[in-house]
Amino acid sequence: MSALFTVFLGAPGAGKGTQAAAAAQALRLAHISSGDMFRRAIARDDELGRTVCAYLEKGTLVPDEITTRMVLDELKGSNQGIILDGFPRNLRQAMSLDAALGREDRALGCVIYIKVAESELLRRLSARWLCRQCQAPHTCPNGEGETTCQKCAGELYQRPDDQPETVQRRLEVYFAETAPLIAYYRDQDKLCEIDGEGEVETITQRITEVLRDGESIGCQR
Ligand code: AMP
Repeated sequence: MSALFTVFLGAPGAGKGTQAAAAAQALRLAHISSGDMFRRAIARDDELGRTVCAYLEKGTLVPDEITTRMVLDELKGSNQGIILDGFPRNLRQAMSLDAALGREDRALGCVIYIKVAESELLRRLSARWLCRQCQAPHTCPNGEGETTCQKCAGELYQRPDDQPETVQRRLEVYFAETAPLIAYYRDQDKLCEIDGEGEVETITQRITEVLRDGESIGCQR
């Protein structure tokens, strides 16, 4: 696979992070998650973390200047194929990405859009708990009487922005700001829609097949 960029697009709860990590591992690509970069900065309590903390708590978008600079800095000079997860999140970010890649004579290959019904998104987000150590997602540990990670026995926790009021806000932000990117990339013939419901492994397989077959170029299905 050539050194191209693949964007993973989808609503909160669509499985973007899980699928981006799995595809990156299967295809030996780098995985850049803007949400993870922000969460790491918050955990370090550095200047970026203190600046963005309130936005993540409320479930609103971090201002474009901060996000775009952070992600584009990370991309600079990389000659490896990259999966971008959570960026771009609105049209301004998408245009900044196109412009930055164009300046370096590089290109966005394919946009994997993971499609999940809204009722299923709400169900997943309200039941999603993560492992503090390995970040593996689990379903509603309290209901199941389970409090440790099945993979590494780390402690499970609920992301503060997965609590009900914030989940609703994040979905509203997604439909208002991020969903227009579906048409933006479809018009560029870059969109590849993947059914995001079903077994995690089956969805990973659908995505990796598309990325392998399409060489990430014009893989609209
Ligand atoms: P995620 O882990 O992708 O769900 O992102 C968690 C939170 O990080 C979002 O609710 C936003 O507050 C912030 N965030 C992540 N990516 C972006 C982005 N591209 N633009 C603005 N804010 C973002």
